[in-house]
Amino acid sequence: MEKKYIISLDQGTTSSRAVVFNHSGEIVAIESKDLDQIYPGPGWVEHNPRKIWEEQLFVLTNVFKNHQISPFEIAGIGITNQRETIVIWDKKTGVPIYNAIVWQCRRSAYICDELKRNGLENIIHQKTGLVIDAYFSGSKIKWILDYVTGSRERAKNGELLVGTIDTWLMWNLTGGKLHVTDCSNASRTMLFNINTLEWDEDILGELDIPRSMLPKIVPSSGILGVLDEKILGIQIPISGVAGDQQAALFGQACFNLGDTKNTYGTGCFLLLNTGRNLTLSPHKLLTTIAWDIGEGITYALEGSVFNAGASIQWLRDGLGLLDNAPQSENLARSVENTDGVYVVPAFTGLGTPYWDMYARGTIVGLTRGTQKEHIVRATLEAIAYQSRDVLEVMKQDSGLSIDELKVDGGASTNDFLMQFQSDISNISMHRPKITETTALGAAYLAGLGVGFWGSKEEILKIYSLEKVFAPQMDKMLREKKYTQWKKAVVRAMEWAK
Ligand code: ADP
Repeated sequence: MEKKYIISLDQGTTSSRAVVFNHSGEIVAIESKDLDQIYPGPGWVEHNPRKIWEEQLFVLTNVFKNHQISPFEIAGIGITNQRETIVIWDKKTGVPIYNAIVWQCRRSAYICDELKRNGLENIIHQKTGLVIDAYFSGSKIKWILDYVTGSRERAKNGELLVGTIDTWLMWNLTGGKLHVTDCSNASRTMLFNINTLEWDEDILGELDIPRSMLPKIVPSSGILGVLDEKILGIQIPISGVAGDQQAALFGQACFNLGDTKNTYGTGCFLLLNTGRNLTLSPHKLLTTIAWDIGEGITYALEGSVFNAGASIQWLRDGLGLLDNAPQSENLARSVENTDGVYVVPAFTGLGTPYWDMYARGTIVGLTRGTQKEHIVRATLEAIAYQSRDVLEVMKQDSGLSIDELKVDGGASTNDFLMQFQSDISNISMHRPKITETTALGAAYLAGLGVGFWGSKEEILKIYSLEKVFAPQMDKMLREKKYTQWKKAVVRAMEWAK
């Protein structure tokens, strides 16, 4: 049978999906299942790893049950995943010894505080490109080994394995044959040295994590293993893997130095391709590995805005100003400007470049003339101001000019927001036809890995744009608005300290 498709398994924080792409990069089938969130205490977040695997398998098999597609038509499987989340399991039985600790979980913050007290911030930044934070996998692994009696001994004896979600899926998809991770995922663990491309013995020592439980590092594209024949009755190559944001960068065809994408979801994730240059950022952008597709490591700088689409959800659910998120666009357009109102949606603090966990949401500039439309408009504009904040430090720290931003994610469908982003950042915005860029990126990696697509150039040819937004705002007005925004941010900072 002709190999007509690539299938992506996209294991996200809130759902597990299987997406089938044809040779033109178009979606021909999607199956999805929501994933239960477990909140055992304040700031603690877990997933059931058995469910992650079972539900990923469920959506994979449903593709063939519910669509006119045969497993024999699949050329390769790509994997993309929620990053940093970790699982530890028994090598013999495959049974996890604890729930998956999710990237959002703060339970290991005290372990990070201790690393900071021991003066390790600089060295860990230089080695891993990351800031010390409970967000990353390292302290989560230590937490489980400290908490589950006897687990560290068992790990030392080679009885336990650890992995991020890509590793957990590949181990299960191959019937326990493959214990690997790609370098984009490894670079989010705070255990991986992004200079030497090896697990870092010193950091492992600090956290008392046995080297023997860690997966082998593999490229992001190429034949990494094969799907266990028992699953679909055929062996299919697993040929691409990357963490979700890196996969989105690849799915946006940001292949070259200076290419940048912004994903407008719950938060915003901006990634800038810095090519072969490992650039450490004085402004606390994260330095991360974008991918390894057999031509040397491609690095990226990453910045995050904590509350983007989430602030639109707040307008809807918290304030009841909207029935649905898309309505925000018409309301924003119904007024000429925000009438001097600025909303700083720092509900959970501020991310790049402020890193202020005590900042809180603020509305400034209210007058008797303020209407709900002004507040809605100011909330949308705040998403763009925060993204400009990240772009500014990306330009400074990379020394690159960024003239074009590729966009995706739920809120990127909002034309008002896209135009305002273009105006306020003086940048042209490119929205692709396929906004499922995370799954598409994993498909591209998997397709390149088996020769389904011959080269990145071939992929660039099938990349298709839906709409371009060009800057129209007068420079004086742009800078005046941005200066006011910066003043508003100061009002929000350190509020909860
Ligand atoms: P995630 O992957 O983080 O769950 P999505 O990419 O699915 O996020 O995007 C959903 C987010 O986008 C929600 O926070 C929602 O409020 C916001 N959103 C969706 N559509 C719009 C819109 N038209 N305008 C503004 N925000 C939107």
